[in-house]
Amino acid sequence: MNFIETRGNDGQRPPSVSFSSAILSPMSSYGGIYSPESLPDLGDDFLANHADSDYKTLARELLAAFEIDIDGDVIDAALDLYDHFDDPANPAPVVRVRENLFVSELWHGPTRAFKDMALQPFGYLLASLAQARGENYLILAATSGDTGPAALETFKNRDNVRVACLYPDGGTSDVQRLQMVTEDAPNLKVIGIHGDFDDAQSALKMLLGSPRFNATLKEKGISLSAANSVNFGRIIFQLIYHIHSYLELARQGVITLGDRVYLDVPSGNFGNALGGYYAMKMGLPVEKILIASNRNNVLTKLINEGRYDMRGTQLVATTSPAMDILKSSNVERILFDLFGADRTRELMQQLDESRYYELTTDELEKLQAIFSADYCTDEEGLDYIRSTFGNDGYLMDPHTATCFKAWQTQAGKAIPTIAYSTAEWTKFSPTIAAALTGKGGMSDIDALEAIAEKAGIAIPPQIAALFEKEIAQKTVIDKEDIEQEIVAFLGA
Ligand SMILES: *Cc1c(COP(=O)(O)O)cnc(C)c1O
Repeated sequence: MNFIETRGNDGQRPPSVSFSSAILSPMSSYGGIYSPESLPDLGDDFLANHADSDYKTLARELLAAFEIDIDGDVIDAALDLYDHFDDPANPAPVVRVRENLFVSELWHGPTRAFKDMALQPFGYLLASLAQARGENYLILAATSGDTGPAALETFKNRDNVRVACLYPDGGTSDVQRLQMVTEDAPNLKVIGIHGDFDDAQSALKMLLGSPRFNATLKEKGISLSAANSVNFGRIIFQLIYHIHSYLELARQGVITLGDRVYLDVPSGNFGNALGGYYAMKMGLPVEKILIASNRNNVLTKLINEGRYDMRGTQLVATTSPAMDILKSSNVERILFDLFGADRTRELMQQLDESRYYELTTDELEKLQAIFSADYCTDEEGLDYIRSTFGNDGYLMDPHTATCFKAWQTQAGKAIPTIAYSTAEWTKFSPTIAAALTGKGGMSDIDALEAIAEKAGIAIPPQIAALFEKEIAQKTVIDKEDIEQEIVAFLGA
C-alpha cells in the first residue's frame, strides 16, 4: 500500500510513496502529512478468526493487511518489544470499572504511558530502515513529558539514529524529568529549556526551518525524521489496541462479536483517536468515538459546533499536560479522509493564516456521525479520580479522568464503553495524591508513597529506581543556545 498527501501534491515530490519513505521522511507537499491511499477492509471473519489471538498475532495480521514494504522478520522483531510489557501476552489489559464502563490500560510498557504502545515497535522499525539503507537520522523531539521518555527509551543505543529531546525545565513532573535525564546512551541528548512547552516547541520549529542548521546536517550526512504522531509509523501501531480491546470485551463475555461499543479517547494530537477511526473504517463495530479533552477544548468545539477556533485562545496549563494542545495535528488526516485533499489544504491554510476554520453543515454532519465530544475541567477530573477510587476501587490518572466526563455526558449507557487509560498513576502522582488525600503540592516521591499506602499497592520498580539513578543529562539552556548545543552533540 502507498501513502498520499493530505494537502495534495505540489508536483515536486512523488505523488505517492511507500510506507518506509513515509516514515523516514514524513514531511509532504504544502506542509501536509502522509495518509494511507486506502484502508484495508478486515472482512466479515477477521474478528471471529482472531477471537483468541494474542496481541502480537493480531498485530502481525493487521500490519499484513496494510501490505507495507517492511520484511516480516523486521516486523516480528519490532513486535517482540511487547515482550517487555508487564504481561507479554496482553500488553493492553481491559479492566471493568462499572456496568458497561471498561478501561483499556495502555501504559504497561517501559515508560508507563501510552506512547510506548506505538513508539516501542516504531523506533525499532525506523532504526532498521536507517541501518538497511546506510543512512543517518536525527530525531528532534519537543516534549511536555511523555513523548520524550518514550522516544529516548525506544531509540537508545540504536545505530544510525540520534535523538535530541527538548523539554521545558520545571514544566514536567519529577518522574518524567528523571526518565529523561537519567538516560545515558551516547546517541541521546536531552536538553532542558528555560521556558514552557510552547517555547520548546517553537524553538524546535525554528531549528527545523533554519537554513544554517539544515546546511550543517547536510554536511554531516544526517537527515531529519520525526517521532511525533504526524509520522504514520506511529499511527499504524495505534489501530491495533482498539481492535484488541474490542476482542478482549468479547473474551470477557461482555459483548458478542458484531455488537457496537463506544471508544472513549483522551485526546491531544489525536493520534489515539485516529487509530480508533481507522479501526472503525476497517470494520470494527463502533457506535461512536468520544473525544475527551481538558480545558484546552478546541476539539470539543470542532466536533460540537464545526468550528476550529484558536483565535484569542491561550493554551492553559492543566493537570493533564499531555493534552494541553491547541493545534491537534492528526485532525488533518480525518479532514482528508472525509473531505479530500483540496478541501483539507483550504481548511489548513485558513487555520495557519487566521487560526480559524469553519466546516459546512454537511461536513459537520459527517463528522458528528463518527465523533462526539466533551471536555473536563481540572476540578471535575479530581472528583472523578476521587470518586472512582472510592466507589469502584479503580485508581486512574488525570488524563484518563477526562474520559469519565465524556462517558457521563456522551455515552448511551446501554452500550459498553472502552475508555482508554493513557498513563499510570505514577506519572502524575501529585495530582492523584491531592485527589485521594485532599493534600496538594506534594513532591512526586511523597505523592507516590502517599498513594501507594492509601491504595495498598507498591511503587513499580522502574519508577522507584529513577530516584536512585545518576543524572546523566545535565544541559539546561536558553532557547538561543539550542542550535549550537545540538550541532556539538552531532560531532565533527
Ligand atoms: C500523548 C498523550 C495523550 C494524547 O494522545 P494523542 O494521541 O496525542 O491524542 C493523552 N494522554 C497521555 C498520558 C499522553 O501521553
